[in-house]
Amino acid sequence: MICPRCESENVDKLVDSPVGDVWEVYMCNRCYYSWRSTEDASVTDPAKYDKRFKLTEAQIAKMMEIPPIPPLEVE
Ligand SMILES: [Zn+2]
Repeated sequence: MICPRCESENVDKLVDSPVGDVWEVYMCNRCYYSWRSTEDASVTDPAKYDKRFKLTEAQIAKMMEIPPIPPLEVE
Protein backbone atom coordinates (compact mmCIF):
# COMPACT_ATOMS: atom_id res chain seq x y z
CA MET A 1 0.00 0.00 0.00
CA ILE A 2 1.29 3.44 -0.95
CA CYS A 3 0.02 6.75 0.44
CA PRO A 4 -1.84 8.64 -2.32
CA ARG A 5 -0.68 12.02 -0.96
CA CYS A 6 3.03 11.61 -0.11
CA GLU A 7 3.70 8.20 -1.72
CA SER A 8 5.25 6.77 1.43
CA GLU A 9 5.08 3.01 1.80
CA ASN A 10 4.80 3.41 5.57
CA VAL A 11 1.06 2.83 5.67
CA ASP A 12 -0.98 0.89 8.21
CA LYS A 13 -4.47 -0.50 8.02
CA LEU A 14 -6.49 1.12 10.80
CA VAL A 15 -9.71 -0.85 10.65
CA ASP A 16 -11.87 -3.23 8.65
CA SER A 17 -15.57 -2.67 8.07
CA PRO A 18 -17.47 -3.86 11.16
CA VAL A 19 -19.87 -5.97 9.09
CA GLY A 20 -18.73 -8.14 6.22
CA ASP A 21 -15.48 -7.69 4.36
CA VAL A 22 -16.58 -4.49 2.61
CA TRP A 23 -13.86 -1.87 3.16
CA GLU A 24 -10.72 -1.02 5.08
CA VAL A 25 -9.37 2.30 6.32
CA TYR A 26 -5.67 3.03 5.88
CA MET A 27 -3.48 5.75 7.36
CA CYS A 28 -0.10 7.07 6.29
CA ASN A 29 2.45 7.27 9.11
CA ARG A 30 4.35 10.09 7.40
CA CYS A 31 1.69 12.66 6.41
CA TYR A 32 -1.26 11.21 8.39
CA TYR A 33 -3.50 11.11 5.37
CA SER A 34 -6.20 8.47 5.76
CA TRP A 35 -8.60 6.93 3.29
CA ARG A 36 -11.17 4.21 2.94
CA SER A 37 -10.52 1.57 0.31
CA THR A 38 -13.89 2.14 -1.37
CA GLU A 39 -13.35 5.87 -2.00
CA ASP A 40 -12.82 7.23 -5.51
CA ALA A 41 -9.49 6.60 -7.26
CA SER A 42 -8.78 10.34 -7.02
CA VAL A 43 -8.55 9.78 -3.27
CA THR A 44 -6.97 6.33 -3.08
CA ASP A 45 -4.68 6.00 -6.11
CA PRO A 46 -1.29 7.81 -5.93
CA ALA A 47 -1.29 8.20 -9.74
CA LYS A 48 -4.71 9.84 -9.77
CA TYR A 49 -4.44 11.93 -6.60
CA ASP A 50 -4.58 15.67 -7.44
CA LYS A 51 -0.95 16.79 -7.89
CA ARG A 52 -1.77 20.20 -6.36
CA PHE A 53 -2.33 18.47 -3.02
CA LYS A 54 0.63 16.07 -3.06
CA LEU A 55 3.18 16.44 -0.27
CA THR A 56 6.89 15.71 -0.45
CA GLU A 57 9.02 14.67 2.49
CA ALA A 58 10.75 18.10 2.33
CA GLN A 59 7.43 19.94 2.49
CA ILE A 60 6.32 17.87 5.47
CA ALA A 61 9.59 18.61 7.30
CA LYS A 62 9.04 22.37 6.87
CA MET A 63 5.46 22.40 8.11
CA MET A 64 4.66 24.61 11.04
CA GLU A 65 3.80 22.98 14.31
CA ILE A 66 0.26 23.37 15.55
CA PRO A 67 0.34 26.04 18.27
CA PRO A 68 -0.11 24.61 21.75
CA ILE A 69 -3.33 25.35 23.59
CA PRO A 70 -2.61 27.78 26.44
CA PRO A 71 -3.64 26.86 29.97
CA LEU A 72 -7.20 27.75 30.94
CA GLU A 73 -7.66 31.05 32.70
CA VAL A 74 -9.35 30.54 36.03
CA GLU A 75 -11.38 33.47 37.29
ZN1 LIG B 1 1.37 10.11 3.26
